[in-house]
Amino acid sequence: MTEQAFLTTVVGSMPKPTWLQEKLPLNTDNKQVHGKGADWRLSDEDLEAAQDDAVRLTLHDQGRAGIDIVSDGEQRRKSYVTYVTGRLEGFDYQTTAKKWTRNRRRLAEVGRCTGPVERRAPIVDDDLRFILAETERPTKITLPGPMTVVDSTADEHYGDEREFALAVAAALNAEARELDALGAAVIQFDEPVFSRYPEKVADWGIEVLDRCLEGVDQAKTAVHICYSYPMPGVPRPIVDSYPVILAQLEKSKIDQLSLEFEASKLDPELLRLCPSKTVMFGCIDNGTDAVEAPEQIAEKLLAAAQHLPPEQIQAAPDCGLVPLSMDVARAKLRALVAGAELARQRLGR
Ligand code: ZN
Repeated sequence: MTEQAFLTTVVGSMPKPTWLQEKLPLNTDNKQVHGKGADWRLSDEDLEAAQDDAVRLTLHDQGRAGIDIVSDGEQRRKSYVTYVTGRLEGFDYQTTAKKWTRNRRRLAEVGRCTGPVERRAPIVDDDLRFILAETERPTKITLPGPMTVVDSTADEHYGDEREFALAVAAALNAEARELDALGAAVIQFDEPVFSRYPEKVADWGIEVLDRCLEGVDQAKTAVHICYSYPMPGVPRPIVDSYPVILAQLEKSKIDQLSLEFEASKLDPELLRLCPSKTVMFGCIDNGTDAVEAPEQIAEKLLAAAQHLPPEQIQAAPDCGLVPLSMDVARAKLRALVAGAELARQRLGR
């Protein structure tokens, strides 16, 4: 491993400018339908041009903060799930269904799977091309993980979660191979629901995740796991699932794990369960406006480095920063970079 200690990165989503999309709390009642979300301020070509500019702006912000591995902030996405699944065959978001999701954390209005899942056309390829043309920095691109897609969908076709998930994985794998060929530095699958279903992770989650990665040989592959966005009025139980999940993930082919350690207060000793992985160590909370002190971030990173070589630790937020204001997110990214720098100095690297 020749990686620098404590590289900095983002998880995926970043706040959107208020001129791009109305700003609503994540749990606003009539916007709960998966794939709807807050309204765009513009439409058609105006919207597309505004999204392009929003991507340029977040790349600028991440670059100015000094983030090493950047993303487009998911500025084009209302939902990290349906932006992708809505472009696959087999999903219907016109007639939705009610479903308990996230292990009964949330009763949601979800789309339905009504036929075989297939990828007939590229999904985020153009989005990646745009980012690559706008920045010299290594770029991460995100896709929803199959277990999270299954949890977020009413299945009326497969009748078996593993089978449904394998079909989603095959479609996402076709996409991931193209993103790999285009030059993504990191291809990340977002699987927040892993933390809610440790027994499913063991049963079929790793098999399905590995299916997503077949033939991806240039880009690093990553999986993001968390306890979901903080939402007003919705409990966010921190269940003790990481020991099971991490032991399972150690057996997978995935290169990198994005894990939340800040808001969850999980013990960094858990990193001993995944000695072969690079870990995006979450040390920024997306549920509070209080900006973490670089000193505190450095301490957390150094505590993590007691359990995993620092070259295998990246400094990252717990989760996407979309719930925050742009100013708070900028300040948190600057603190993250300063904290990582401080931690490197202390280690003499
Ligand atoms: Zn997350």
